[in-house]
Amino acid sequence: NFRALVVNKTEDDFSVDVKTLSFDDLPEGEVTIRTAYSSVNYKDGLASIPNGNIVSTYPFVPGIDLAGTVVSSTDHRFKEGDEVIATSYEIGVTHFGGFSEYARVKADWVVPLPKGLSLKEAMAYGTAGFTAALSVQSLEQHGVLPDSGDIAVTGATGGVGSLAVAILAKLGYSVVASTGKESEHDYLKSLGAKKVVSREDVNPEKIRALGKQLWAGAVDPVGGKTLAALLSNTKYGGSVAVSGLTGGTSVPATVFPFILRGVNLLGIDSVYCPMEVRKPLWERMANEMKPDSLLSDIGQEVDLDGLKDALSSILEGKVRGRTIVKF
Ligand code: NAP
Repeated sequence: NFRALVVNKTEDDFSVDVKTLSFDDLPEGEVTIRTAYSSVNYKDGLASIPNGNIVSTYPFVPGIDLAGTVVSSTDHRFKEGDEVIATSYEIGVTHFGGFSEYARVKADWVVPLPKGLSLKEAMAYGTAGFTAALSVQSLEQHGVLPDSGDIAVTGATGGVGSLAVAILAKLGYSVVASTGKESEHDYLKSLGAKKVVSREDVNPEKIRALGKQLWAGAVDPVGGKTLAALLSNTKYGGSVAVSGLTGGTSVPATVFPFILRGVNLLGIDSVYCPMEVRKPLWERMANEMKPDSLLSDIGQEVDLDGLKDALSSILEGKVRGRTIVKF
């Protein structure tokens, strides 16, 4: 038997509790993993409330990220003792996830832990960090390079934002971080931001069809009107990588940045990102992208009993950096 965070919903009740499960409770899959660490993402916050629209069948174990050691595998690619990462796909959405001392997942979802990364560092990154890395890589592929000019990062104290600031700085980019938290300017500078501005600075009340050309590129986990403002302020030929919707889902933009400045809007999806992109990117995250601040400033640790509070905090937009769950 082992412990897991279980959410349950019945006609007249909703609960989130640490419970004891047995191996028979785990879903089907080829690889059984003893979880060393998991982490808290915004999606996990949504999975822990009654109308978050993430979980469809109850009782359920959330947690879209996990890292740990293989205890058994019926797939030739993995064997007992292997250290692995499993994030996204169906994990923590339709398939029991990482908020559990043991997890059983499909072999197709498992990434070998790259050399140069610990299990704890892998979860300090987690899906948010992978999304940040994917955003940066997509900017690179569209010609946004360290000497191109300033890169805006929105929602900068959040999970995707913090890692985007730190990875970009590590690669030598000039980063302008935008945050709603006045108290966290020093934190963002310590991650490597050249300049820290307010949310209103990147998303003013009135957005012009074509604003000043400020950004060579942007990493935007906020979306909504902020995305429209970023597009209007992107330089000729620049690119904006959008991954999130914390600031809303409708984007009141015009075609002008695209047709008069050749601006690119890059969509970022971590969930079904194919293995041929996923594995090499984790390798880069273990090496040239890995920020010094990953565990010292960005990652903070809770245990299974502290997880419920951490899930509430991320929904309230109060979290700074990443919350790692230790088992
Ligand atoms: P997070 O840690 O909660 O960070 C979100 C940050 O956005 C907050 O810390 C806050 O930063 C800022 N923010 C909050 N409310 C805002 C508002 N109303 N307007 C503007 N900014 C606001 O969440 P996360 O894990 O980084 O995820 C961020 C977004 O990316 C979510 O929408 C998530 O679903 C999405 N996501 C997508 C993928 C993908 O594959 N596409 C993967 C992971 C996450 P400041 O206070 O510093 O401004």
